[in-house]
Parts: sequence; structure tokens; C-alpha cells
Amino acid sequence: MKLKDRVAIVTGGASGIGKAISERFAREGAGVVICDVDLKSAQEISDRLKEKDVNSKAFEVDVSDSSQVERVVNNIVEEFKRIDILVNNAGISKDSLLIRTDPSDWDRIIAVNLKGAFNFIKSTARVMMRQKYGRILNITSVVGIMGNAGQSSYAASKAGLVGLTKSTAKELASRGITVNAVAPGYIRTPMTENLSQAVKEGYLSSIPLGKTGTPQQVANLVLFLASEEADYITGQVIQIDGGLLM
Ligand code: NAD
Repeated sequence: MKLKDRVAIVTGGASGIGKAISERFAREGAGVVICDVDLKSAQEISDRLKEKDVNSKAFEVDVSDSSQVERVVNNIVEEFKRIDILVNNAGISKDSLLIRTDPSDWDRIIAVNLKGAFNFIKSTARVMMRQKYGRILNITSVVGIMGNAGQSSYAASKAGLVGLTKSTAKELASRGITVNAVAPGYIRTPMTENLSQAVKEGYLSSIPLGKTGTPQQVANLVLFLASEEADYITGQVIQIDGGLLM
């Protein structure tokens, strides 16, 4: 049990990668708090975990709203008494060429993907600082490192997460808190289901391992970084992409 007695928050834990992380953490003994705009799905996952005697709860929260985040984090501390692990996984994408991108779509993508992580780090860091222990994982993307035509707003939000990761890693290191980013490549989830066949084939032909990744493979990496075994790793961006970007 790598996370015995630890309490973890997973944003966007109701689907895809976040769901796999929530289930993986639960198997390793953590209490798992799922924070998502989709309360129904979050609740179903949390209920299934509780049936297996996992300490779990679902909260409805829009990560981009700082007052909602603050309120939910206060409730979590009241109920679970501590917060050891934060996984900033909630994310959205809406692809379009930059010259056709609606400014309101740009704002929303940055607000959810980047400000959402800022909101959760700000609200949970004080708890982790008191504990002198914490693990923060930000789910970025290889697209934030290499860029991608048609994804300027998404790529900018994910590149922003890299700067946020490194800066907070430096600020929080002396308090026993590590901050790392995980950069997946092409992972099969509801987010990538709707890609056109041409885009899917384009990705596949650029992946040396010749296949897409699974949410469970990402969850395994996140588990390692969230565990005590990773206590000398901070400020890093770790890719999990089948070799897509080298
Ligand atoms: P997904 O769409 O399956 O899951 C995203 C989850 O985030 C959903 O449960 C959704 O309800 C939640 N969410 C969306 N907006 C929210 C908000 N404002 N507040 C709270 N929750 C919100 O997507 P996924 O593929 O599992 O992606 C998870 C993360 O991994 C995202 O940050 C995504 O950018 C990143 N990522 C995914 C891939 C991939 O290939 N799937 C690759 C690189 C990075």
C-alpha cells in the first residue's frame, strides 16, 4: 500500500485519466476526493470506491472559480483532516486555428486548465505547509512542450502549467512539498475520442511505440510521483507518450 492513510484530491476525477488515477490511488490505500463539474459521474465513482471500503467523497466544483475551490477545500479539510496529494487533472480542449479562435474560448481554456490548477494549489498549499508534507501533480501535455497546429490555446494553457509547476516547486520545496508535471501524449479517453480519423492516424504514425496510451499507464506514473518513493523528484515534467516527443 503505497498511499496508506494519505488523502488525495483528484480534479476532473470523473472521467478518463482522472478516473484511472482515483481508482489507482484507492487501491494503494489513499482516501480519494473527486472534484469535478460532473457531479453525477464523480458520485458514481466515489460510491463504487466506498463499496470497497475506501474513504471517498465527490464534490461538485468548477476549478476555474476560486471561491468555489476555496469552499470545497475547506470542506475537505474539515472532513478528511489533511490533504497529502493534489492532482490537477481537470482540463478541456477546443481545437481551432488561432485566427479562428473565439476569445471567449481562449479565456475558458486558460481559466480551466491553468487558473484551475493555480486555484487548487493556492487553497491546498497552506494545509500541506502546515503538515510539512505534500505532493502536487499537474497534468500538462506534450502539446504544451512541442506545440500543435489548431491547439494554440490548449498548448498555451499546458505550457503555462510547466512554468507554474517549476515556480511552485521552488517556493514549496523547503516545506517538504514536491511539485511535478506529467505530460501525456495520445491517451485513449473521452477527450480524444472525438478527434478526426486523419488526426488520430497522424498521431499514431508519429509514435515510435506505434500505439496510443491508456489512462491506467498514466495513473501508474502519477502514483509513483505521488508516493514517498519519489521524494527526491521536484520541478520536473515527465513525459508519457510512447516516444512521440524526444
Ligand atoms: P476527459 O474529458 O475524459 O476528463 C476531463 C475531466 O475534467 C471530466 O471529468 C470533466 O468533467 C472535468 N472537467 C472539465 N472541466 C472542468 C472544470 N471546469 N472543473 C472541474 N472539472 C472539470 O479528459 P482526459 O483525456 O481524461 O484528460 C485529463 C487531463 O489530461 C486533461 O487535463 C487533459 O488536458 C490531459 N491530457 C490528456 C491527453 C489525452 O490524450 N487524453 C493528453 C495529454 C493531456
